[in-house]
Amino acid sequence: TDSDTADEAVRTTCDDASVCKRFATSKGYWKDPYIQYFVRQTSERKAPEINRGYYARVHGVNFLLDAFIRKTACKCQVINLGAGLDTTFWRLKDENLLPKKYFEVDFPMIVARKIHNIKTKPPLSKPIVETHSTDSLLIDGHSLDSDRYTIIGADLRDLPGLEEKLKRFQMSPELPTLFLSECVLVYLTPQQSSSLVRWAAETFHTAMFVNYEQVHMADRFGQVMIENLQRRQCNLAGVEVCRSLEAQKERFLSTGWETADALDMMTVYSLLPQADVGRIERLEFLDEKELLQQLLQHYSICWATKDKLKLGLSEVAF
Ligand code: SAM
Repeated sequence: TDSDTADEAVRTTCDDASVCKRFATSKGYWKDPYIQYFVRQTSERKAPEINRGYYARVHGVNFLLDAFIRKTACKCQVINLGAGLDTTFWRLKDENLLPKKYFEVDFPMIVARKIHNIKTKPPLSKPIVETHSTDSLLIDGHSLDSDRYTIIGADLRDLPGLEEKLKRFQMSPELPTLFLSECVLVYLTPQQSSSLVRWAAETFHTAMFVNYEQVHMADRFGQVMIENLQRRQCNLAGVEVCRSLEAQKERFLSTGWETADALDMMTVYSLLPQADVGRIERLEFLDEKELLQQLLQHYSICWATKDKLKLGLSEVAF
């Protein structure tokens, strides 16, 4: 059916993200020793502005994630929604920043692939075994459960199913919880993403939600970005929420979150540690500064908090 085709197209987007991340790391933009086990090295070159865009995306999201984990002194959970082939679990382990439990959710088909890679590649499986206390690690075709890392196959549009699976794997509503969605909500309708973020706000008393996705999609450049994705049959059901930073914040403020902030990625890029930005800007010559600006102005990070435990989550900012 058409909707199966659209879901399939959405699933292949996780390869695109990881292929671009692998390419940028091979050029030295940042280090990720694990991504090589999930995607092949691409023969196709990525333009310097794409690599800088991924640099801003990865560092922007990591900055907020690490700030949350530090505020909670690691006594927290992270739930990565539509995680794809993301390697954050391994980075956090290497940096001694592992939360009590790190959850990932994606379509069962993506999860099966990820678990297959983990099972067959010791550099991926060793850190999971090391952080697990017993011999009884659960790994089957569509879920992995260990003491610190759980991967669940679920559809983000089915909230009762999602909640049931998270609870089955010891998700605790009492722990401060960080939700992460990176280029995911745009594939849900505005109603579906609102229900998801409302569910998160209603289920957890102390939480932060970090959402990375497109913004300013109503202008000329934005329209071209949409056409490019649509040409690949991707159904951008949620694109209307990507019209402005205000609309991004409103999605959270209207569903039970106490605070919400949003910045476009050009602003985030200018707020990242400039010594490292200087280093990456010397990696590849970039002719078209304006293209970089336009590209970064069309992505955003929005973060929302609620803070019953008064951990100071509303202070987290760039
Ligand atoms: N967050 C990862 C990253 O940034 O590297 C992957 C991003 S990829 C563009 C979008 C991911 O969202 C895909 O892995 C896709 O399978 C997942 N996704 C989209 N809609 C979903 C849904 N309804 N339920 C579960 N996963 C979904």
